[in-house]
Amino acid sequence: MAANILLVEDEPAIQTLIATNLQRAGHTVLAAGDAEKAQRLVHEALPDLILLDWMLPGMSGVDFARRLRADERTREVPIIMLTARTEERDKVLGLETGADDYITKPFSPRELVARIKAVLRRRAPQVTEDIVEIGGLRLDPVTHRVAAAGNPINLGPTEFRLLHYLMTHPERVHSRTQLLDGVWGDHVFVEERTVDVHVRRLRSALEPSGTDALIQTVRGAGYRLSANQ
Ligand code: CA
Repeated sequence: MAANILLVEDEPAIQTLIATNLQRAGHTVLAAGDAEKAQRLVHEALPDLILLDWMLPGMSGVDFARRLRADERTREVPIIMLTARTEERDKVLGLETGADDYITKPFSPRELVARIKAVLRRRAPQVTEDIVEIGGLRLDPVTHRVAAAGNPINLGPTEFRLLHYLMTHPERVHSRTQLLDGVWGDHVFVEERTVDVHVRRLRSALEPSGTDALIQTVRGAGYRLSANQ
């Protein structure tokens, strides 16, 4: 499982230690020492998960988590809070801000990696390596293979990621901006019509098997993958 993780931690030694361990586990890590820098990084590209230290210079981790939850674009990004505090009251407060999990320092790298994996599995299935099957389509993230009723389908890398994202978030309407964030990780420099181009390519690759009908256009809203017509 390889995710883009934003690490917000002001202590350089801890930042390096965590980043090294996450990279060893296959993740890509961007690090920030305060909420302001983290906000800029989030604006540029939406991470798959945010590891957020509770005590930061300037805006606290708790307030930053609240801000992320209040913004429609960042509302669903999984957050794991890191903290030296052990009091139960603080734990409750951390979870009330919308954090998905909470890890108390000191923690072992192994525990951190396991907790990240659990949160990603629950909240960001597009970065897991689980096989997904919907409406006769089967996608295997490990072998990068897609098949319809057992017949292989060839997809370009972007179409593959797009299909994986749609299959792991079925029945929901995704705006072009949300797809840029979720599939391209970039809503700033990539144009919205790029999404339409790749949806068109994906549909034509699926068309011979008839599974292109799974990808629905929702007028004025975006796209949806649904096994229900
Ligand atoms: Ca700190």
